[in-house]
Amino acid sequence: MNSVRPLRQLELPGVPDTVDTTRVVEQMVRRASSMGFESWWRRAESVGFCAQPIQLVGNDEYGREQVVWTRCNNRRAQVCPSCSDLYARDTWQLVHAGAAGGHHGMPTAVADRPQVFLTLTAPSFGPVHTTTTAGDSTHKHGVCRDHHRIGGYRRCPHGKPMWCSTTHDQDDQHLGQPLCQECYDYVGHVLFTWHLPELWRRFTITLRRALRKELKAAGVDPDVVRVSFIKIVELQARAIPHIHALIRLDPHDDPDQTDWESPISAGELATTIQHAARTVTLTVNDPRAETAERVIAFGTQIDTQPITPRSDPADQASPEKNSTIGRSLPGRRVARYLAKYVTKSLADLGISARRLSAEAIPDLDVSEHVRAILASISVLADSGLTEIGRWLHTLGFRGHITSKSRRYSTTMTALREHRAAWTREQQLKISAYQHDPFQNTGGVDDLVAWAFDRAGHISIGDRTLTITAALRRIQQRRTAREALQQHRRAPLIEVPDG
Ligand SMILES: [Zn+2]
Ligand SMILES: [Zn+2]
Ligand SMILES: [Zn+2]
Repeated sequence: MNSVRPLRQLELPGVPDTVDTTRVVEQMVRRASSMGFESWWRRAESVGFCAQPIQLVGNDEYGREQVVWTRCNNRRAQVCPSCSDLYARDTWQLVHAGAAGGHHGMPTAVADRPQVFLTLTAPSFGPVHTTTTAGDSTHKHGVCRDHHRIGGYRRCPHGKPMWCSTTHDQDDQHLGQPLCQECYDYVGHVLFTWHLPELWRRFTITLRRALRKELKAAGVDPDVVRVSFIKIVELQARAIPHIHALIRLDPHDDPDQTDWESPISAGELATTIQHAARTVTLTVNDPRAETAERVIAFGTQIDTQPITPRSDPADQASPEKNSTIGRSLPGRRVARYLAKYVTKSLADLGISARRLSAEAIPDLDVSEHVRAILASISVLADSGLTEIGRWLHTLGFRGHITSKSRRYSTTMTALREHRAAWTREQQLKISAYQHDPFQNTGGVDDLVAWAFDRAGHISIGDRTLTITAALRRIQQRRTAREALQQHRRAPLIEVPDG
């Protein structure tokens, strides 16, 4: 793209095009050369260079005003690179603790229990541009829709070609866009997204029932096994959510039991999961016509990879394909995949994190596909599914991005509390040298009644300085991690993607 554009001003991280960057730079320079810079920087550092810190004020027992900052804890990289990165790392901790155990209060025994890595995709609502060969979950790159494969140079009833001879790049904007918008079933797409949380809930019930039945049939007490899981929702290129989950079998009563042997193997668990995912359905009314019904179900691309101990090669074969995942792999690799997904933002599709109104749809800077989804949501909202109108900003998805059963692993809250306690301890150590230890408790003083003062930095310049610092830290961590990975040279697992 060499089109002539007006001379663009300086590019600053997190600063939109519409803002005059000269002013921002002035603010940055003023801050950097100010008297209070050191203490401001320390405060920004204390919240990991959060882009939207929340400022709390309160008076201590001597009547002195105290100010503290806390993180915004926003999951979206677009809003806060630092908190988003932290969220991803916490997700990693959560998944890894549940898969491999040995930290955050999870026993190492969990590593020997049957575990399956599951990916559930949405069904097709019409052909879209893709990098994946249909039905091939190994994610091979190739021609989008080869005419041989679809039975010649066929056109849809609207005259649009149903073939595409392009090999799309990962960041090609055509990816996920329908070959014909008129053929694409937008109502089906939106209803699937809307009902996905309930479909998942039914899936977990179906799975638990199926396992009980199997145990009974094998003459085993069906109450000896408990199903634990963590699930993460990812938005595919076609702007529809799909689900990644780690499912684990535990002893029913004592989660820490070390000598437990599951009556169901990981391979058997994978087969049962496949069956449950393929049979679970949900029948809903099409709000546009009272008598019309829709059956909501998962797509046929259901991937289950049993995670088995390396020492047991007989159990390595998965029902779908040969999985070569060893015990050391899932803990780290699966955790990393899932951690990456959670920070994927709707902003990638041009949707801001804020709530949208139907009137804004025509003016949004989004693809025609996303606009058509938004328009369908709006139509459904007007047809009686009123509630969905409040979920335009999530493209109709109303569930949690991450969720887990209680026993699967530690919690985000526990991870945050653990970190806060650690930080407090560090600050106490430092302040013990600097100040009178009887007057300075360091960190957030529990005796002060804190009140919300403001959210965000006082100027875009301050915000830019912190975002720059946050991005530098993230980059440093990434470089260190990559060096470590190269050192390990572990094989990669592939997960299907649309
Ligand atoms: Zn933040
Ligand atoms: Zn294509
Ligand atoms: Zn068509």
